[in-house]
Amino acid sequence: MNFENEIIKHTDSENIEYIQFKRLLKYPNIKHAYVLSSYDMNFRAGKDFCNIDKVNERLQVVSDSLGFKYSSIIRPDFEHTSNVSRIDEIITQDNKPNLKGIGFPNVDGLVTDRKDITLMATNADCLLILLYDPIKNVIGNIHSGWRGTIGKIVVNAINKMEEEYGCNPKDIEAYFSPSIRKCHFEVDEDVKELFYKTFEYTNRIDEIIEKGEIKENKQKYLIDNVLINKILLEENGINNENIIDSRICSICSSEKVHSNRVEGPLFGLSAAFIAIDK
Ligand SMILES: [Zn+2]
Repeated sequence: MNFENEIIKHTDSENIEYIQFKRLLKYPNIKHAYVLSSYDMNFRAGKDFCNIDKVNERLQVVSDSLGFKYSSIIRPDFEHTSNVSRIDEIITQDNKPNLKGIGFPNVDGLVTDRKDITLMATNADCLLILLYDPIKNVIGNIHSGWRGTIGKIVVNAINKMEEEYGCNPKDIEAYFSPSIRKCHFEVDEDVKELFYKTFEYTNRIDEIIEKGEIKENKQKYLIDNVLINKILLEENGINNENIIDSRICSICSSEKVHSNRVEGPLFGLSAAFIAIDK
């Protein structure tokens, strides 16, 4: 399975396999990548979340291969909130990556204008959104699973970029990672209702929610989490042509992308990185 197309650059090197957005690669001062599951980062969900030493070992290889500074990697301790933090310094312990949100608890999105801070986010079906304003040179890395989408975390991120850095939404570019897509994002009545109530106002609810199959006498629904995030961005002044979608479904492409629904309770995590170069 190779994702190379007009949007995506796919690299399968000896050490590591990852994809990048061709348009974001046009900015020489920005480094970014989405690491595919063939490179096991050793992140595991569930009780034994991960063996940090093993994860750090793997992150060292990621840093060396992709040119990120190892000790500059920071990642929130994703709680499915809709909170976004501005990061102004590298918060590290023993010069190792900060993977548990030390110094910025209870957030699911990070923004910064500081060079040499690597914003990391992980997913397995949830949508990650990389943000970049080439005028103000501000980046973001946002985790928008279904709870984050209901809480409109991407709007909070755009607001933060406007308020804290004076960004103009018209300049901001948004890049959508692989994530669960409408073809597979099946939910029950209760979750469907939450989406319905929250996004009925968009007048596009028939595109957002589709009736799925009936399983065990229960009506299932299919949700378009990607479309909702596009609508939210456009409502907040982001130009349609500045929203770049990988168009990769984590379930359809589960041989290359981690998926909670496919892998079960001990699912692994894929990771997106973005940093402003020196
Ligand atoms: Zn799919």
